[in-house]
Amino acid sequence: MNNVIEYLPHGFCIAWNPQLLAMHVISDLLIAIAYFSIPIGIVYVAKRRPDAELQPIYYLFAAFILACGVTHVMGILTLWVPLYYTQGITKIITALVSVATAIYLLPKLKHIMALPDLGKLTQINSALAQEIVSRRQSEASLRKSQELALQAQKTQAAFLANMSHEIRTPMNGVLGTLDLLLDTELKPEQLQLAAASKRSAASLLSLLNDILDISKVESGQMTLRHNPLEISEVLADVEAALSFDAQSKKIELQCSAGALPSTTYLGDSVRLRQILLNLVGNAIKFTDVGFVKVSCREVSRIGQQAVLEFTVKDTGVGIAPEHQKNLFKRFTQVDNSSTRRAQGSGLGLAIVKELVELMGGQVQLKSALNQGTELVFTLKLVVQTPIETDAGKRLAELAVVAPVTGQFRGKILVVEDAAMNQMVVCKVLERLGLESRIANNGQEALDLLAKESFDLVLMDGQMPVMDGYEATKSIRSGAVPGVNQNIPVVALTAHAMVGEDKKCLDAGMNDYLTKPLDRSKLIEVLAKYLPEV
Ligand code: ADP
Repeated sequence: MNNVIEYLPHGFCIAWNPQLLAMHVISDLLIAIAYFSIPIGIVYVAKRRPDAELQPIYYLFAAFILACGVTHVMGILTLWVPLYYTQGITKIITALVSVATAIYLLPKLKHIMALPDLGKLTQINSALAQEIVSRRQSEASLRKSQELALQAQKTQAAFLANMSHEIRTPMNGVLGTLDLLLDTELKPEQLQLAAASKRSAASLLSLLNDILDISKVESGQMTLRHNPLEISEVLADVEAALSFDAQSKKIELQCSAGALPSTTYLGDSVRLRQILLNLVGNAIKFTDVGFVKVSCREVSRIGQQAVLEFTVKDTGVGIAPEHQKNLFKRFTQVDNSSTRRAQGSGLGLAIVKELVELMGGQVQLKSALNQGTELVFTLKLVVQTPIETDAGKRLAELAVVAPVTGQFRGKILVVEDAAMNQMVVCKVLERLGLESRIANNGQEALDLLAKESFDLVLMDGQMPVMDGYEATKSIRSGAVPGVNQNIPVVALTAHAMVGEDKKCLDAGMNDYLTKPLDRSKLIEVLAKYLPEV
């Protein structure tokens, strides 16, 4: 080993002239400087490129190049200093680092080759940028169409509200005058004709209501009420409404809530009644012998959430399997021929399905030709603790047993712009024993209220000069001299749209009635505010 140190290094060899020495020293020095600076660049890149898979390669390369740089420095030193062992060790280190780099790098080559080159990356980048632009454009156009759709929905809602108003107002006139006509003394033939007109008018109104209902559901305008709901009452109503039809066909009609616990649910009784009237009406229509039975049971209850199942079963003509799947679509009937046995628009089951689904339920049809039909539907309802108020009881009794004439005392101000409606409402009030005065608009109403005393105001909504909402607000404000600001004001409006009741109550009205005027509902409301005879 000592011998090695005693070797004469090349620098002292006379055969190595200064030019050769300088060539070795300068080139080794430049290589070393370059090798020392490259790792700085590599580490710099590694720190900023966090792709985990390539990180070890960066550092191995940096170490490998650094080691190479050291071997070149050793090359210069050993020209004059015989550090051959140290030089050997630096070569071993370089060898180890380079072998490790090669071992690590070779299996990774496939992955590295799969990495996109700069050109490709630029291409991908510009494609991405383009996609971002086109996405932004389609987002903007989507937003625009969403706005347009919302606008269209609003227009449709306004159209529906107007249709509802425009249709109900004349229908109020037709049905009301027919009612009045039927109450007068008529020859048998006249009675028959008037009764036939009333039936046609009523079925026209129900068809219009069906069309309005379907449009309301489709435009998202159908909102459900959330009121206490007595299932047995609804079933009794349905039975009462359709028992005449069943009797005249000699069919047994049975509506029973026997299997239900005595619970009050929260829900929309009007819509439940509508569903049942449709289904039971159909069942009677398509049954010639036997029975129509309606039953109801609670199938589950989790906390306050109950699921109720209603079954409408008949022994009628039944429906062949091929006709069953389309029946819940609008305007679909089994028999479309002009000679078909029963009338109808084909909207009933479509409305039933929409309403049931709105109430969180499902409809199922089980039927076979000539073996009857069973329609089962479920509803999700909230359970309420039973309520029983005296006022509620009294009202229910009144509506059922009260005689139609001479029942109340008092003076009513009828605020209404349509002459036909003025006549109908005043006649109905007269039959109930009430005196009435007419105001053609809100302003006239305020003038009359300031001059005379009244017990109640029946207020239309839409009117020229001053509408009913404005007039009510003025009454309630107490700012009109001579006007009793606490007088009961009941809306009588043709706007049967959801939200209309709230609008009336917000304006300060006490109650809300819709046209065509339903006498029993009018009696119910009047009973709340007027003394009875
Ligand atoms: P429509 O107003 O015509 O009765 P629906 O949508 O209520 O419209 O019913 C569509 C069709 O389904 C009816 O025309 C009838 O052919 C059939 N249908 C409905 N209920 C029954 C039933 N209980 N028994 C036999 N057929 C029925």
